[in-house]
Amino acid sequence: MAKLPSVPTGDDLPIVVIAGRPNVGKSTLFNRLVGRRQALVADTPGVTRDRKEAEATVRGRRVRLIDTAGLEEAAPDTLYGRMRASSESAVAQADLVVFCIDARAGITPADEHFAAWIRRQGRPVLLVANKAEGRQGAAAAMEAFALGLGTPLAISAEHGEGLSELMGEIADRMPPEAPPEPVEPVEYGEDGEELDERPPGPLRLAIVGRPNAGKSTLLNRLLGEERMITGPEPGLTRDSVTVLLHDEQGPIQLVDTAGLRRRARVEDGLEKMSTSATIEALKMAEVVVLALDATLGVHEQDLQIARLIEREGRCCVLALNKWDAVEDRIATRQAISDRIETSLAQMRGIPVVSFSALTGANVHKLLPVVRRAHEVWNKRIPTGALNRWFEMMLERHSPPLVSGRRLKLRYMTQAKARPPTFILFGTRAELLPEDYQRYLVNGLREEFDLPGTPIRLLLRGTR
Ligand code: GDP
Ligand code: GDP
Repeated sequence: MAKLPSVPTGDDLPIVVIAGRPNVGKSTLFNRLVGRRQALVADTPGVTRDRKEAEATVRGRRVRLIDTAGLEEAAPDTLYGRMRASSESAVAQADLVVFCIDARAGITPADEHFAAWIRRQGRPVLLVANKAEGRQGAAAAMEAFALGLGTPLAISAEHGEGLSELMGEIADRMPPEAPPEPVEPVEYGEDGEELDERPPGPLRLAIVGRPNAGKSTLLNRLLGEERMITGPEPGLTRDSVTVLLHDEQGPIQLVDTAGLRRRARVEDGLEKMSTSATIEALKMAEVVVLALDATLGVHEQDLQIARLIEREGRCCVLALNKWDAVEDRIATRQAISDRIETSLAQMRGIPVVSFSALTGANVHKLLPVVRRAHEVWNKRIPTGALNRWFEMMLERHSPPLVSGRRLKLRYMTQAKARPPTFILFGTRAELLPEDYQRYLVNGLREEFDLPGTPIRLLLRGTR
């Protein structure tokens, strides 16, 4: 009798357990990481989930993911009892516990209780502050420092923010991979390939701008013959439309621009890009190209869109379109730069590319600039270099007196990238006046070459 080929059971995969009190977004995160709408997400805490375990691929590495939310209902009937029982066996076998809190709710007694218990289990923990979307998100997330589980990683499972960084952090914490046993040489070859060499996901790009700036024309130029509109997919909102293109560095995914929507919904020919559509596109993008009609100069509405991009923490590339129709190019360029410099100080050094989407002239310059902006946005500065610079800055200008007493600033660390976010620790650091904060942010930008990206500075008072 022929022997059946052995099916890989996945039993030896590293185990990643998502834990936390009910309703912090564990299932939502689970769904995101698994990449399919598998678990049921509901507003009511403790709703029965039909799915609590799945395989997921994180940066090319297969892991077994366990959502402890799915285990709650079988447990003893107090909140702590349920949390504990649901997690006990899962955490015991975990290679990594992803401990979630709700950044919007802040740290609750249940979080503290649960965190203390998790710490006692002695498993590696990654602290995640979920629901940290938008501008306030990262700051709210930092409250979770108090749990003593390390630096919190701010994410929004629902809006898809911070997920790529989270996957990187998870992958970094996985045990070294055992070399696969070459039982079935063919399978072995296939698997081996994927492990380390899989590129990180495509760069996500949005093109935004006022109506008639030339977004659709630019889109068509970028796509050329290589057009491939794809439907809704995990990681993006339900009705989003995406397009993939490629440059030498790999795939670029264009997300949810009004132009795309217009192509996808032919009947909706008059759709204009509303503010909410712009925000939605921004949330899904990493880099945002803000397209201007250069013959019209910079309008207040363009600045408003740029501020939205800053608020959402995305990096921005300014595209001066219709360059073919500009008469005095030098004067136009200068006028636009001046306006940006004075009106968008918070994104100083924003990259500017001029081209004609209509004729195609210089459009090829756009994507390299987008790639470079993406690198800046992703940049991590080593703590040592950061603090050497910081001391120099303190010497050059001592921190000001606040109600008669000098603030004692101690050190800085970069809490996260995407956008670069720094925490400044010091006695009464939270009182640091804005002009000194600006001095530091501008200095960071220059010293560490961070043009154009939003930079966040969070102040942490210590005693
Ligand atoms: P669980 O009980 O920890 O598994 O939490 P769920 O995944 O069921 O999420 C609880 C609620 O929080 C649901 O209403 C989600 O839609 C919502 N939620 C999850 N992630 C986020 C997020 O990133 N931001 C916001 N604002 N809400 C979220
Ligand atoms: P959208 O509303 O931002 O998508 O703008 P469209 O792509 O529909 O373009 C609006 C108008 O500007 C159309 O008539 C285009 O032909 C025109 N247009 C777009 N790009 C250029 C350009 O580079 N130069 C010139 N002269 N016209 C352009």
